[in-house]
Amino acid sequence: TLDIEMTRAWLQATAASMNDNAERLSALDAAIGDGDHGTNMRRGFAAVTEKLAGTEPATVGELLALSGRTLISTVGGASGPLYGSIFRAAGKRLTGATATADDLADALRDGLEAVQKLGGAQTGDKTIIDAYAPAMDAFTAALGDGHDLLGAARAAATAAGEGAQATIPLLARKGRASYLGERSIGHQDPGATSTALVFEALAGVLG
Ligand code: ADP
Ligand code: MG
Ligand code: MG
Repeated sequence: TLDIEMTRAWLQATAASMNDNAERLSALDAAIGDGDHGTNMRRGFAAVTEKLAGTEPATVGELLALSGRTLISTVGGASGPLYGSIFRAAGKRLTGATATADDLADALRDGLEAVQKLGGAQTGDKTIIDAYAPAMDAFTAALGDGHDLLGAARAAATAAGEGAQATIPLLARKGRASYLGERSIGHQDPGATSTALVFEALAGVLG
């Protein structure tokens, strides 16, 4: 099960990873967007870390929802509302002090639905969804195969990383990169790459 302190550790590990990978994420965004994805993620998750330091939440969901609201209010780019909607939707479902692996799978599925509803992207559009959707499929499949939360998180992290890499040959159909048309082909999507970092951070704190 996932408790409040593990959730806090996940968010802090995500913030550290966004900080460490900020230049790489912005370089990916420079190729097909406006070059700010790394600084957006770094700023947003740094604000999340600060907010979490001053709070004693009663539920896992409160922590995630607060993170989502913080991302929305501190990240100017498209990714702020998109990531914010994920964490807010996931947070809504987790109303206890702990969450089982199945609870987390359901919550993260809610997050996926929320970001698809907000951004209108489908798999193959070269966005966050191209890492997130396969990660959730892998998460659910791993639980079905009898793996525990750690096993599911590791499977999801691997699938998210592969999904991010698989965006390279895709044509962007959403967001700024879509303005480039064919010229978006041949570059890895920054948002899919940062999504993989979120799942890697989860697997990292559980393992
Ligand atoms: P901006 O494009 O406003 O500068 P960022 O650079 O922070 O914002 O984020 C860009 C990333 O957002 C893209 O790489 C893509 O993965 C993601 N993205 C953009 N539009 C959408 C969408 N409609 N649905 C899902 N993800 C999207
Ligand atoms: Mg950008
Ligand atoms: Mg921008």
